[in-house]
Amino acid sequence: MDSKLIIEVSSLKKTYTIGSKMLHALDGVSFNVKEGIVFGLLGPNGAGKTTTIKILTTLTKPDSGSCIIAGFDLFKEPRAIKRLIGVVPQENNLDRELTAKENLLIYGMLHKVKNLSASIDEKLSMVGLTDRKDSMVSQFSGGMQRRLLLARALLPEPKILFLDEPTIGLDPQIRRQLWDVIRKTKIEGRTVMLTTHYIEEAEALCDTVAIMSQGNIIALDSPDNLKRLAGEYVVDAIDETGRLTQYMYKTHEDALQRAREIQNGAKVRRSNLEDAFVKLTGKRPE
Ligand code: ATP
Repeated sequence: MDSKLIIEVSSLKKTYTIGSKMLHALDGVSFNVKEGIVFGLLGPNGAGKTTTIKILTTLTKPDSGSCIIAGFDLFKEPRAIKRLIGVVPQENNLDRELTAKENLLIYGMLHKVKNLSASIDEKLSMVGLTDRKDSMVSQFSGGMQRRLLLARALLPEPKILFLDEPTIGLDPQIRRQLWDVIRKTKIEGRTVMLTTHYIEEAEALCDTVAIMSQGNIIALDSPDNLKRLAGEYVVDAIDETGRLTQYMYKTHEDALQRAREIQNGAKVRRSNLEDAFVKLTGKRPE
């Protein structure tokens, strides 16, 4: 049975004026998100990912377009939507002069969280910060601060969690810890929408990925289907100038045939989401 749609976005446009130039940050973006999935916005710098998240979390208004979240009109009923969402912004806005627990206490009181003390303990345990609850945030590493931001966003038990580049700049081990929290969040039944420019993050976490480029969605599907769309087999070859060239094919036979024809030698392998991303956007991830 198909799950219901929790986010319905239609024709979002957002233009910034820089000097005398108009910059189309979003150029008519439309997509739907099914309830209970992890949905990723993937794209190179400046593609429009953060602008989309800012609009959906009521921080910025679009020039035009519509958006329904959990049945509420984003532009007519933003308050109803604010009560349903948790947001982890790209910039860290924790209070550095307070402890982890104090940060959560203040946030929880503002959001009228019930059984606050027990909820704080539960969320701190979920992100692995129980031992550090009484430490000042200023003494936390970047990874610990991101985990605390996640705990804070989850405190009011949001129906939808928005994460803008949740693991930017973190080492692989801490990244994996955050991925586990995001997976737990999904198991709890929440919908997660995240932006990332880490391909492996989208591949590891997302049920559906929208690839953005220059203010548009250029492909939207599961990671597996995106790979199929771009070609499941890659031929890596070295051209006459010594450069690595890649060709993508739908079938193994076609890829093998091409590899045989290449004089300098070539290798055939299964494609990954990065190959699909490069083919669809024409850009290598940063
Ligand atoms: P990144 O991966 O670098 O965070 P992004 O995909 O999130 O990029 P956005 O931050 O949404 O991209 O930006 C989309 C475009 O809009 C960019 O060209 C950016 O420079 C521009 N932009 C975003 N915010 C503003 C602003 N407040 N004023 C002017 N231009 C802006």
